[in-house]
Formats: sequence, C-alpha cells, structure tokens
Amino acid sequence: MTSQFKLRTSIESLRASRAFGRRVGTYLGPYRGKALLALLAAAGAAVLGLAPALILRAFVDNLQHGRHSFAQSAALVGLGLLALLGSGLLGLADTYLIVGVGKRISAELRQRLFDHLLEQSVGYFTQSRTGELLSRVLNDVGGLDGILGATLLSIVTALCTTTAALVLMFLLCWQLSLVTLILFPLVALSLRLAGRPIYHRQREVQEQFANITDQLQEVLGVSGILLVKSFGREDEERDRFTSANNELRRLEIRSVMAGQWTSVGMSFLGLLGPIALILFGSHLVADHTISLGTLVAFATVAGVGFSSSLLRLSGNLITIIGSLPMWTRVFEVLDHPVEVQVSPHPILVSSLAGSVEFEDVTFTYPGQPNPALAHISLQAKSGQLVALVGPSGAGKTTLSNLIPRFYDPQQGRILIDGNDVRDLASSSIRNAVGMVLQDTFLFHTTLRENLLYGCPEATDADLDNACRHAALTSLIASLPDGYDTLVGERGYRLSGGEKQRVAIARVILKDPAILILDEATSHLDSVSERAIQSAMTELFTGRTSFVIAHRLSTVRSADLIVVLENGWMVESGTHERLLQSGGLYSQLHETQFLSDF
Ligand code: ADP
Repeated sequence: MTSQFKLRTSIESLRASRAFGRRVGTYLGPYRGKALLALLAAAGAAVLGLAPALILRAFVDNLQHGRHSFAQSAALVGLGLLALLGSGLLGLADTYLIVGVGKRISAELRQRLFDHLLEQSVGYFTQSRTGELLSRVLNDVGGLDGILGATLLSIVTALCTTTAALVLMFLLCWQLSLVTLILFPLVALSLRLAGRPIYHRQREVQEQFANITDQLQEVLGVSGILLVKSFGREDEERDRFTSANNELRRLEIRSVMAGQWTSVGMSFLGLLGPIALILFGSHLVADHTISLGTLVAFATVAGVGFSSSLLRLSGNLITIIGSLPMWTRVFEVLDHPVEVQVSPHPILVSSLAGSVEFEDVTFTYPGQPNPALAHISLQAKSGQLVALVGPSGAGKTTLSNLIPRFYDPQQGRILIDGNDVRDLASSSIRNAVGMVLQDTFLFHTTLRENLLYGCPEATDADLDNACRHAALTSLIASLPDGYDTLVGERGYRLSGGEKQRVAIARVILKDPAILILDEATSHLDSVSERAIQSAMTELFTGRTSFVIAHRLSTVRSADLIVVLENGWMVESGTHERLLQSGGLYSQLHETQFLSDF
C-alpha cells in the first residue's frame, strides 16, 4: 500500500514537473528561431575555439619528427589567431541573441503579472501583502532575467563546447574517450541528489526576500514612517529589520552552499579525466597506438574543452534548479483566478441613466464567519440621493463597493438600469460610476494630471470650472506652479481637506451617472466645509448618489435613507418617516447629528 502510494506520488510529481517544464518552455517557444541562431553561433564559436588544440598537435608532431619550419609555424599561429577571432565574434553574436531572449521573456512576464494583477478584485489586494506582490514582480522576475540570459547563454555555449570536444576526442582517440564517458552518469546522479535541497533553499530565500520587501514598503511609505516616528519606534523597526536581514543572509548562504557541495563533487569528478589519461594515455603512446601529439591534444581538449564545459554545464543546471522557485512564485500569481469575472459577452452601454437596484444581496468577505451585508434589497431611481447611515462596521462601505463591482455578492443581484452588473462591460460600469472616498489617493505627478485622471480629454475651461465648484481656485492660485505643481507622495503635500476637494473636482470632471461619496467631514474645516457645501448639492443633481452621510443636511435632503446595522437593512425611508417610527435612525439622529443643529 505504502509503496504503491509512493509510486503514485512520484509518478504524479514527475507528471507535474513535466507539465511545469512544458509551461516554462512555452515562454521560450516564440524565440525558437533566435535560440537556434544562438545555438549555431555558439556551436561555431565552440568548434573554432577548439582549433588551437589541433594546431598544438601539429606543432608537437612536427617537432617530434624534426619537421620544424618558421614559415609553417607562423602560418599555424596565424590560423590559430583567426580561429580565435572568429570564435570571439560568434560568441558576441550568441550573447546578443540570448541576452535579448532573456530580457524579452522577463519583460513579458512582468507585463503578464501586472495585467493579471490589474484584473484582480479589490478583495485580492486586501488579502495580499503589497511587498510580497512587488517582490514577485520585481525580485523573482529579476532573478529569472539573469538566469534566462547569462545562464542560458552559458548552457548553450557549454553544451556546444562539450559536444564539439567530445566529437574531437573520439576522432583523436576513441579508447580514451570511452573512459571519459563514465563522467556523464556520475554528473547526472549528483545533480539529481542535489536538486531538491537546492530548490527548497532557494524558495526560502525568495520568501524571505518578499518579507523584507514588504517590511520596507510598509515602513518607508509616508503613512508608515509617520506612524513609526509618531510612536518613536525607530529602534524597534531597526531591530525588526536587522533580524529579517540576518535571516535573509543566513538563508542566502545556506542556499549558495547547497549548490556548492554539488560543485565540489563535480570538480572531484572532473579529476577522473586526467586520471584516465595518466593511466591509459601513456600506455597507448608507449605501444604506438597514438602519437605523443595526439595525447597532448587529447589532454588539452579533455581538460579545457570537455571537463571544464561539462562542469560549467552542471553548475548552470544547479542555477536553473535554483530558479525554479521563482517560476513557481510567478505562476502562483498568474494562476490565481480572477474572482470578479468579466462576462464572456459583456453588454456595452455608452451612457447609463443610473438607476440602481439591490435584489436580496448577501455578501460575506472571504474567510469571515458572518456576512457583511445580509439580504439587502433597495431601489434608487435615476437621479435620487440615497443616504447610507448606521454605526461603524454596519456595512455602508461594503454596500457602496458592490456597485462598481469591487466585489461580487455571493447571493442576489445588483442592477444598473435593469442590467445585472455582472453582465455589463467593466468599462461601462467604470464610466458610469464616480467615487469620492474618505482617503484620497494622489499619484506623484502634477495636480493637473491627478485632476484629469478620470477624464483625460477635459479642456482647461472644464478644469477651471470643476476646481471652482470644488472650492479649489484659491488653493491653485497659491501653489508655486499652479496646476503643474507636483503633488502626491514625494511632491507638495496637500491637507486632508484639500485632497478631498481635489477628489470632488476629479469626479465633477468625470461627470458620472452614479456617484458614491464617503462624505467624511473630519478632514474639512468649517470654512472649506461651507465652501464645498454648495458644490456637493450641485454634485448630487442629475445623478444617482449613494452617500455615506455624516452631515445632517445631506441626510435630511436624501430621497431615501438606508439604515444599516450589522449588515442588515433595519430601516429605510425619508427623514420624517424614519424620525416618526422612532427606530435606530431616530436614536442615531439624536447622538450623531446633534452637533449639526
Ligand atoms: P462601515 O462602512 O459601515 O463602517 P464596512 O462596510 O467597512 O462598515 O464593514 C462592514 C463589516 O465588514 C465590518 O465588520 C468590517 O470589519 C468587515 N470588513 C470590512 N472590510 C473587510 C475586508 N476587506 N475583509 C474582511 N472584513 C471586512
């Protein structure tokens, strides 16, 4: 039973590794032509590189038989130099071709990873560590890049040199060549034994690399460093980094050493060649089976050509084995299914009126025991203002995030203009929905580009108009370069309120049919709050708006107030009706909005 199981698992792992190999091969496939050219160039370089050994043989044999002439020697030296020059030039062409292939494959991998990541739902990113993803796109692909280029090049060259040397060795003396062949099964056996530990050690290194990248990304980001400094945690962060860094060093050394033991073994095996020569070569010369020149030439080819390139080949195979964890980590990202799937026949709508309906929607975050939204049914007619109220954690943000399909509900449907959002083309949804969130993110670029992000074709007049409505005009006038001032992480830092007004201007420019707004007032001082109050009112007109409302004026003027508690819709209706019913809304009204009176 156990042996049967073992057999099955080893067959399965063989199949899996074949499939893995084929998959890696598909990336090389499109470059077959270039690889073939590189192989030809490498073969040419290898053959020409062996010419000096033959010239040496001619020298020695000429000397031994007293046939020495300066002209002949000069011609031989000239030939040798020409062969070496040709070999060098072909080697150059080979490098150019192979490095190009390596760089193209790694660029393609980075692109595929980025494209695939862009398709993932927001949920994927809330569950992944950013540094870990960065590490896979940069460190892992970067590692493969070197291997695909330099190592592949080295393998092609070494393979050609080994083959050419072997052929020449057989031509020179088949008896000695046969003895040297014993090296092949020995090299294969040691590679097989060393493969698994090398793979695992390298996988540990890549994982630790990802941990460090994640740590750096967290601590060195503006928000992270502010937190570290405000709590005076520099020493602790230094210690945390030191221990992660030391761990990386330890794993890296272990990984390099795992490969080195094999290399030492290989070098030892490489000694078998000269031993065979000493034992059998002298014997063959003594009984005149081969000439002394042949023995010298054989020794040169076997030492410089065969043994050293075979050792290089096995060293490269070790590097390839070490690169497999990087492929695995890249494939893990590429194989992660896209949770929010695009319909195979998406409905493309150029303009949507913006009515939104929730039909018995239930949504649970992955890995959470309780639904964040349970059996929500509501209807917002085109142009209506819906206020979402409820205690913190009630599900207001979750509800608003389901409209642009940041997540898909497990049960129920969300309809925009009567179309299930799952059937709509993602571009139609994105065009129809505009969001102003509590935390505004600005890219590190000019204010103009940030404002135009949702509507790059807007004119300067549109831009001025949007900024006037969002009460940004005086801020822009005060900035050193106006619209062209660099903002964002390393640029001019806008205050929380200013950033929120930029987000409002951005959405005014986009002019969406459906607006989602987290109307957090915390960032706004009373002056700017009053200033954008009228902008807000204008923003709501003519579009369906879902507002996580913190302001009584918004709630009061809403066409529909949806009161959420623990993911359930406990009440809905207008301000007056809900106050009369004396439920959760009237309690919240007393506590939450009292200060607004
Ligand atoms: P509100 O906006 O009303 O404060 P949320 O919609 O943000 O509430 O959250 C509703 C519930 O879902 C909360 O219990 C919250 O902890 C949980 N939640 C929010 N985001 C996630 C997430 N990405 N993963 C798991 N649970 C989440």
